[in-house]
Amino acid sequence: MTGKMIPEIFGSMVFNDKVMQERLPNEVYLRIKECREENKALDTESAKIVATVLKEWAIEKGATHFTHWFQPMTGVTAEKHDSFIEPSNDGDVILKLSEKSLVSGETDASSFPSGGIRSTFEARGYTAWDPTSYAFVKDGSLYIPTAFCSYGGQSLDKKTPLLRSIQYIEKQAKRILKLFGNQNVNKVTPTVGAEQEYFLIDKSVYEKRLDLINSGRTLFGARPPKGQELEDHYYGAIKARVLDFMKELDEELWKLGVLSKTRHNEVAPSQHELAPIYIASNLASDQNQITMELMKSIAGKHGLVCLLHEKPFANVNGSGKHNNWSLSTDTGKNLLDPGETPEQNAQFLLVLCAVISAVDEHQDLLRISVSSAGNDHRLGGDEAPPAIISIYLGDELMGILEAIEEDRNYSRRAKCEVEIGVKGLPKLSKDSTDRNRTSPFAFTGNKFEFRMVGSSFNIACPNYILNTIVGAKFEEFADRLENSKDFNKDLNALIKETIKKHKRILFNGNNYSKEWEKEAKKRGLLNLKTTVEALPYYVKEENIEFFEKHKILSKEEMYSRYEILLENYSSIINIEAHTAVDMAKREILPSVLEYEKLLAEEMKDKKAEFPEAECKVEREMLIKISTLVDKLYDQIKVLEESLTKTKKKTALERGRYFERVVLKNMNDLRTTADELESMVGKKYWAFPTYEEILYSVKY
Ligand code: ADP
Ligand code: MG
Repeated sequence: MTGKMIPEIFGSMVFNDKVMQERLPNEVYLRIKECREENKALDTESAKIVATVLKEWAIEKGATHFTHWFQPMTGVTAEKHDSFIEPSNDGDVILKLSEKSLVSGETDASSFPSGGIRSTFEARGYTAWDPTSYAFVKDGSLYIPTAFCSYGGQSLDKKTPLLRSIQYIEKQAKRILKLFGNQNVNKVTPTVGAEQEYFLIDKSVYEKRLDLINSGRTLFGARPPKGQELEDHYYGAIKARVLDFMKELDEELWKLGVLSKTRHNEVAPSQHELAPIYIASNLASDQNQITMELMKSIAGKHGLVCLLHEKPFANVNGSGKHNNWSLSTDTGKNLLDPGETPEQNAQFLLVLCAVISAVDEHQDLLRISVSSAGNDHRLGGDEAPPAIISIYLGDELMGILEAIEEDRNYSRRAKCEVEIGVKGLPKLSKDSTDRNRTSPFAFTGNKFEFRMVGSSFNIACPNYILNTIVGAKFEEFADRLENSKDFNKDLNALIKETIKKHKRILFNGNNYSKEWEKEAKKRGLLNLKTTVEALPYYVKEENIEFFEKHKILSKEEMYSRYEILLENYSSIINIEAHTAVDMAKREILPSVLEYEKLLAEEMKDKKAEFPEAECKVEREMLIKISTLVDKLYDQIKVLEESLTKTKKKTALERGRYFERVVLKNMNDLRTTADELESMVGKKYWAFPTYEEILYSVKY
């Protein structure tokens, strides 16, 4: 592959706007464009034509099958492939994609999580084409992006609320723009660029670790002698094998129209990152799913395994996904760009205030949007944002807001003199947004970067929360300002009032420090440390009202999601605990006993030959190891016992039990096992150590 070829292959497997324009009759093309832009359903006649043209195109690209591609609450995407074949009258087959198979599909929903929405007598689920996301061909199948709902029309997937939220924020953002005289904006789109972190390890070590296979993370493992302390991996030279993987990944992503832009080594050994160029949030969300799937499948072809878990290795940096978020207009304006004229400044300030107040008022929802068993190990560690939500604005912007609040001139820096009020803000220098890497929600010049998202997450959820909470603030602000008699005065007052009321959420300091935890508590900010602590906020009365009011989720849909997420949490810990028991009993115990036997035999032989030998080493090691191994054995029994009591009345009780009892027992067991690992001879240890895993890709 050469650079010259990129434009040629880019998007070559996507039924995108260009292909549609080329291949569809003009009136059908215009109709589908209208549907995409105005979120309307396509009429049957046009859908028939689209289906035929799409099928012809897909067959040319090597497809034999088609599938509705959807994003159930499992967190991974789902697909069921049907071939294009249909019997013809003369006993042959023809290749066909009907209008119906394009637009909607029926699927047995009973095996997907529904959290009680799907009653057993009505197990049907439906998938409906989402024309705002392009169809594509991958591995010989035509993928048709769809939304997934139950027979009763309730959404069962991650995509539907995202689509609803995009429409909602667009409508409200346009009202804000009108206030500032932007009459010619037809469309406002949330934009997202999701930077993806991941680990790559050699398949041979992976296959020897039941914990990695079953749960994607190590349940045992002592700290390696060399971790990330030298910081020699971050941005370091990329090893040839990894580079081969990255090259193939980029090429396949480009074919699928994903704007993969940046690749580099991350902080931890074996950790890497891919960043795409931002696009409309629905596409960004679909494309991030594609990216994660391709990472896994392409790694396999290179004898590697891609780990997307948030914390595959204890005491080593975990993986996140930085969700860069902004809003942009069809006239090419970014609403979070401070702008250069006083009008632009004022509009920017109002949008900024909407984000600040939304984040402050809905800390709980943002926290929930990044909750999972995996991410619990990451948030609050000294490398990832803490579980407390706060906003970083940088000194300059912070200074401006303070000046506005206090009605005084902003003159911290000579070049930034400003008349107070919405007329004439200083030009914000881009470099002044000095990066605070510890902040969970940072303003980075012309976008916000939400850094709490876990590496394995479907970003649809954090984004529909963001769109909805900011959209709701736009609505509130527009309601207040639309009928204003003195716009500038009222705008000023609103901005000032918002800063005063919500400045507690602004924090430029070190988010990892203990002082911040105390300070945040004083400020009354939420500190929901775990998934189980956070999830009940999902179904709080005011949150249900909030989502129902803005028509993003119904009460039933929210309860279903709440139950699914809790069940998912418990299931994950359950699998991990059973795996830990299995490994401890059948791998760790035997290897330690074998080593003990070796020491005992060694001592016996020595004594036989040299009766006067003290055998100090063997004796001391034996005593220490056998004390630990007794402890290990007891801890296995305790963990096993706790796994017999997991039946509880509610999903919440079950989740709490798994968090407080099972997870704790697992951690105790791990501590002992890790201590043993550091004493038992390397070649006797049952499975590859951190050292061997983290440095498994050598060249
Ligand atoms: P970094 O944060 O690593 O310094 P950048 O600021 O260049 O790098 O961009 C990080 C990510 O933010 C990229 O994926 C980029 O496409 C995305 N991004 C940039 N501008 C926007 C925007 N207006 N909306 C959403 N994402 C954006
Ligand atoms: Mg970044």
